Amino acid sequence: MSDQIYYQDLGNGITCIDTMLHRPGLAACYLIEHDGMAGFIDTGTNNSVPILLEVLKRKRIALENVAYVMPTHVHLDHAGGAGGLMQHLPNATLLMHPRGARHMIDPEKLEQGSLAVYGEAAFGRMFGRLVPVEAERIQIAEDGFELDFNGRKLVFLDSPGHARHHYCVYDEQSEGLFTGDTFGASYPELNGGRARFIFPPSTPVQFDPSTWPLTLDRLMSFNPKRIYVTHFGMHEQVELLQASLKISIRDYADTAKEFSTAENRSEKIAQSILQSSINYLLDQQCGVDVATIRSLIAQDMELNAQGLDHWLSTLQLR
Ligand SMILES: [Zn+2]
Repeated sequence: MSDQIYYQDLGNGITCIDTMLHRPGLAACYLIEHDGMAGFIDTGTNNSVPILLEVLKRKRIALENVAYVMPTHVHLDHAGGAGGLMQHLPNATLLMHPRGARHMIDPEKLEQGSLAVYGEAAFGRMFGRLVPVEAERIQIAEDGFELDFNGRKLVFLDSPGHARHHYCVYDEQSEGLFTGDTFGASYPELNGGRARFIFPPSTPVQFDPSTWPLTLDRLMSFNPKRIYVTHFGMHEQVELLQASLKISIRDYADTAKEFSTAENRSEKIAQSILQSSINYLLDQQCGVDVATIRSLIAQDMELNAQGLDHWLSTLQLR
């Protein structure tokens, strides 16, 4: 385990924990506590499990009191640690989107899918072997499911756009939404400028620019005061962020189409969305130089381009 553990109390019994994927400030999960009951929303990877257990220890929360583990979707930076974590939590139920549950029971297909995206070496380093979860310990959260979290209402909302196996969780007490990847990604290092930088993770293989804005409209109908995003942290300018994210989703789809018949189109799309992100950040006077911007988002833009490339191929099949 890394010696450095970063976690931050956000009020309302919610703690943001850095799951330490690649670098600090890239990927988070959330611990929620209410009247002696605890739960995790997202888990990070297998490598994050010791961090989550250490946070429980430092906060003097007994393993027995963790009642729920709630991965927003099955991508491994969100759910990769769920199986390993469940082994330490004797009373926990794993709450899953209906499309995600089978992948937690039998992670083989999930592993193969991620291997294809990341390659073997990076996959092993980032994620390790996935631990299956017994079917009896899994409960399905259908769209609209309301969880009574020891007297606190959590509402689970089907939220396609980034992935079809994605739910978001509305927390009545904080008037906040736990949004996984559905409300985009926005890194603290790049938010020093006039407006925040938020981008849609269009990671393979279920990016859907036609349903994503509708999902955002539905989330906004709850009038959230704040969002808790996995990449990274709590944000409060929700209205502005959703408007900016919708524009980026449309721009991504337009860029992808522009290059649809180009050679090496994935590379070209990656270069184009990276350059327009850099232009935006410089225009907003983000205070970070181009080399640093590249080091923070170039890899994301490559994955995003892979997802856009895949999306184009589904359009051509229709
Ligand atoms: Zn994801």
